[in-house]
Amino acid sequence: MLELPEVEVLRKDLEKEVVGKKVKDVTVQTTSVVRPYHRNRPEFIKALEGRKVEAARRRGSVIFLDLDDEMTWVIDAGANGSLHRETATESLGDDTHLAVSFTIGGAIHLSEASEEPEISTGVVPTTEALEAAGISTDALDLLDDNPTWMEFGHFLAAADKPLRLLLIDPTYIVGIGPIYSDEILWEAGLRHDHPSSTLSTQEVRRLYRATQEVILAAMKAAGSSLDEAEAEAAIDEDGEVAEHLKVYGRDGLPCLRCRRTVVRTRIKKGIYTYHCEQCMI
Ligand SMILES: [Zn+2]
Repeated sequence: MLELPEVEVLRKDLEKEVVGKKVKDVTVQTTSVVRPYHRNRPEFIKALEGRKVEAARRRGSVIFLDLDDEMTWVIDAGANGSLHRETATESLGDDTHLAVSFTIGGAIHLSEASEEPEISTGVVPTTEALEAAGISTDALDLLDDNPTWMEFGHFLAAADKPLRLLLIDPTYIVGIGPIYSDEILWEAGLRHDHPSSTLSTQEVRRLYRATQEVILAAMKAAGSSLDEAEAEAAIDEDGEVAEHLKVYGRDGLPCLRCRRTVVRTRIKKGIYTYHCEQCMI
């Protein structure tokens, strides 16, 4: 599952690997991945082939590769997609929906183990890229925007929502999903249903520090993601939880801070939180 930290690691890798290179060949195996942006495959292929990649940006969990013609290649790997580096001659696996090779060598493959992938990608004018990707320009990117704790405090007060729902709401905060929202709240020692507008100054500072620490630790744990597809996900295909996670996926196990059993609670339909009832208040 890709959230902000893993996507930022991916962006850095793309900056090293792809920026400055020219797109040679584009193979779209699954038309639906380009559908949100294009009428058909040839339209996408024509927009990308022969273009040079000039910059690799990220907002939330979406990657933006700026091209040399004032267009931007948007890549949203969704919750379960992955991007990895291959040699230009590597054949496409069943899970590969898109392959792009470069003139100086190498290729990247966009994969997802699903016949109906959530991955979406397309080429749009740079000035319209954020909007096209469905990203709210008002929403906070906790890494990119680098707010001060006081700015963060004002933001929390104005939002006035239960913390766990606020953290995953893309109209307020981009790139944070079920994993890191639970991790941030555990690190801060705050309950999921604590209203964001009633935090004390101390609690705002704790939450602020927790967002920074959790994101940086997760980026470190993700390492380099282009080579090892599985290293980028916090949960692997067998459902094994990555070691850097302190509370997410640990229901039934002792809390790493106070030893009380971690529980999984349903907040609302389809939304669950892993938390400790003793040390998150
Ligand atoms: Zn605890």
